[in-house]
Amino acid sequence: MNLHFFQLTLQTQVSLHPKCSKLKLTHLIFADDLILFVRGDLPSVQGAVHLLNLFTNWSGLRANISKTEIYFGGVSSAVKALILQHTGFTEGSFPFRYLRIPLNSCRNSTEVYGTLVTKIQNSLLHWSKPGRVQILNSVIFGITNFWCASALLPKAILKRIIKICKDFFLHVDEGCRKQVFHSWAAVCRPAQEGGLGVKEILSWNKALLAKWLWLLENDTSGIWAQWNRAYILSTGSIWTISVKDRYSECLCSILAVKEEIVARTGSIVAATQILNSWVRHGKFQVSTTYHWFRDKGETVYWFKALQGNAIVPKHKTCAILAASKHLPMVDLLISRGLILINRCVLCQVAVESHEHLFFSCTFSQDVWNALLQWMHLCSRSVSLWTELRWMAQTKGQRHWKNMWRKACLAAAIYYLWQERNQRIFTGHESSYAALLSQIQFTVKHRLLACNSLPSCLVAHLA
Ligand SMILES: [Zn+2]
Repeated sequence: MNLHFFQLTLQTQVSLHPKCSKLKLTHLIFADDLILFVRGDLPSVQGAVHLLNLFTNWSGLRANISKTEIYFGGVSSAVKALILQHTGFTEGSFPFRYLRIPLNSCRNSTEVYGTLVTKIQNSLLHWSKPGRVQILNSVIFGITNFWCASALLPKAILKRIIKICKDFFLHVDEGCRKQVFHSWAAVCRPAQEGGLGVKEILSWNKALLAKWLWLLENDTSGIWAQWNRAYILSTGSIWTISVKDRYSECLCSILAVKEEIVARTGSIVAATQILNSWVRHGKFQVSTTYHWFRDKGETVYWFKALQGNAIVPKHKTCAILAASKHLPMVDLLISRGLILINRCVLCQVAVESHEHLFFSCTFSQDVWNALLQWMHLCSRSVSLWTELRWMAQTKGQRHWKNMWRKACLAAAIYYLWQERNQRIFTGHESSYAALLSQIQFTVKHRLLACNSLPSCLVAHLA
């Protein structure tokens, strides 16, 4: 109530900022952060300070002078000096942070965005390597979301963020070079297209800005949309205006996204239609929009075979890389000079390849056949892709028998790949029995942690 009265008094007794008068906008407040807007002359600023003092008397809430700054725009040096002398405030400089985002009177420099890069780097230091895909999607996008929603990230910054993500995904420590085996574009594709589902940051950036594009014409209650309609779009529509130097970085970014949508759809009418098609029940769907902006790959037939909670995430990641033939096999290591022999280290007989390792190799065949037997299945191993095709086409994907088989397949791929790496890089060999036991142990505990397992399976696993 006090705040409402304070607002009314500001509107009537203090000259409003010239870019706020149409909306009678006096302030923005979030939690304990308050920004006041007034005309840049001494009486107006003094009036605002007087009302702040009154507000303190009414509410008991006092502004912290050491954290209070005054920002000027288009005010002469003489008036500025007078205001600072009479109020005792410190003059602030742009950019300053509001809701974690740096606010600036011009485009943010690469140095400002550097703080975002540092934050991402620091946040990844505290995470262990397993579950890297989940960490990238939650930690990285948790940090960048605010920034991505406020402007298009500069290309140099995008490049640095993608490099950090790649290095984290590939276990590369700072200063240590490692050969890159995976196409990052493939890693960023969704599971249906054989990818790992890491969000592609530039498309996500554009999708978030497309939301503002829609809000500009459709949001009737938000101050941001109202302000832009009053001062920027008063003589035209967002579809007809072009970038101008005086526009904010955010608006310039939105206009760039608009241009891309118009260019890809062919006309403003088609662009408006596609923008409206991303709205469901009055809410803009950023996820749908993201898929429109990203480069799409072809749907893979096997993706359903590697879906479900019964599969351990790191097993799933390895199994997707194996199914899409993106694991660094010996031929790739030889071509990059990392090893000299091309024989499979599990059977010591054949040449290593994806087809051989999963499951033409006698060692891996034995492991998979033993797992089929453990699941009371009489089929015998053929190849990973035949197995995947069969699993993807089977009805009842969530049936416990299918979940058990999926969990076993992904775990078998993961542990066979671990065993192969251990033999190549450390020379240490685990026996077939030890490997089998490890896979059964992991699958058993994963399944037991799932809800709604039938009692017959629980009894079998216990
Ligand atoms: Zn082999």
